[in-house]
Amino acid sequence: MNETHDPELRSWVESANDPHSDFPIQNLPFGVFEPGVIGVAIGDQILNLRECARRGLLPASVREAVSAPLLNPLMGLPAGELTGLRRRLMELVRQGADREQVESALVAQGDVAMMVPVAIGDYTDFYASIHHAINVGRLFRPDNPLLPNYRWVPIAYHGRASSIVVSGTRVHRPSGQRKEPHANAPEFGPSKALDYEMEAGFFIGRGNALGEPIGVGEAGEHLFGMCIVNDWSARDIQAWEYQPLGPFLGKNFATTISPWVVTMEALEPYRAGRAGRGADDPEPLPYLDSENDRRRGALDVRLSASLWSREMRGQGTAAMELSSATIADLYWTPAQMIAHHTSNGCNLRTGDLIASGTVSGPGARERGSLIEITGRGAEPIALPTGEKRGFLEDGDEVTIRAWCTREGFARIGFGECRGALIHA
Ligand code: CA
Repeated sequence: MNETHDPELRSWVESANDPHSDFPIQNLPFGVFEPGVIGVAIGDQILNLRECARRGLLPASVREAVSAPLLNPLMGLPAGELTGLRRRLMELVRQGADREQVESALVAQGDVAMMVPVAIGDYTDFYASIHHAINVGRLFRPDNPLLPNYRWVPIAYHGRASSIVVSGTRVHRPSGQRKEPHANAPEFGPSKALDYEMEAGFFIGRGNALGEPIGVGEAGEHLFGMCIVNDWSARDIQAWEYQPLGPFLGKNFATTISPWVVTMEALEPYRAGRAGRGADDPEPLPYLDSENDRRRGALDVRLSASLWSREMRGQGTAAMELSSATIADLYWTPAQMIAHHTSNGCNLRTGDLIASGTVSGPGARERGSLIEITGRGAEPIALPTGEKRGFLEDGDEVTIRAWCTREGFARIGFGECRGALIHA
């Protein structure tokens, strides 16, 4: 950690000093607003980095990267350049700085539309929450919920990057093949079991060459930052198609991400020890293990998902929280996911998105998807309007938020990952 994590720091952008703001001066996440301009969130404002660079306020070495239309060139910069940029940005917006030159490079967040900030070449979704794996496994195999490989190998599937959308984009209910358990044949039509999955996303900064695995000890150097992910899932399409090759059309119709990328450097104060393994659990194989990863490989980022139905909006009722869990409870750390992903020589590239899989915790209110909360729709939940939900209905809006708190440090947040469901 360094002086940029000092909880006493204040900004001359007054809204950044509100203790409830997701974007205090200690955060400084990167995003891209239309039509392709890189900015940094500070309070309810955005600092336009292209404009700052044009005015000579940023180091010449990052000028090209911060003036690009997407974050990839910036994400690939050496760690020293990124640390230097963070320090410089802090100098520009901290209380007492000369705001004269900087103030007119601010735009209000409410005045611009955010974009998917990264050209995402590949998207991989893990299954790193053992609580989620057990909750879902129990629905299908009550006596033997966890498959024997789970405690040994980080499970994942290759997702689809083309359908990743930014928060606020409406999501179409997908149609597909689904088969009722006792029906003789499947039918084709709109999914009747649409779900959300509350997840964390990790963006790759520097990639690796094909054939050259990233060791678990070096994985941190390849991570740029984090966002929130909602891996929308059509459970009925998924259940019929997934054997033997895994998720396909039940997942790839839409994945929503939050627009701001919180850097690993900003997240440094919220590092935590790897979640404890049970007494009967095997130790990770050596390529997935390091002393440093045990001690500080996890991150305490809390996620919360809420549902707001059309009727709730109409009645002016607040959204209802469905899930809340921390990624500190994941069975596999981000470094283990990266080490495993590249252990066969697979190359990751700058801008790749690695998602955690549904984040669930051990508690009853810590289940990160409706399939877990409602027992695959069998036990619907009641909304404040009296409506029932086994799965999502058209008009439902799901918002996932995330934040970090730790005694002695500022609270930082991720903004929101929001999507409303519309009929196809
Ligand atoms: Ca998922």
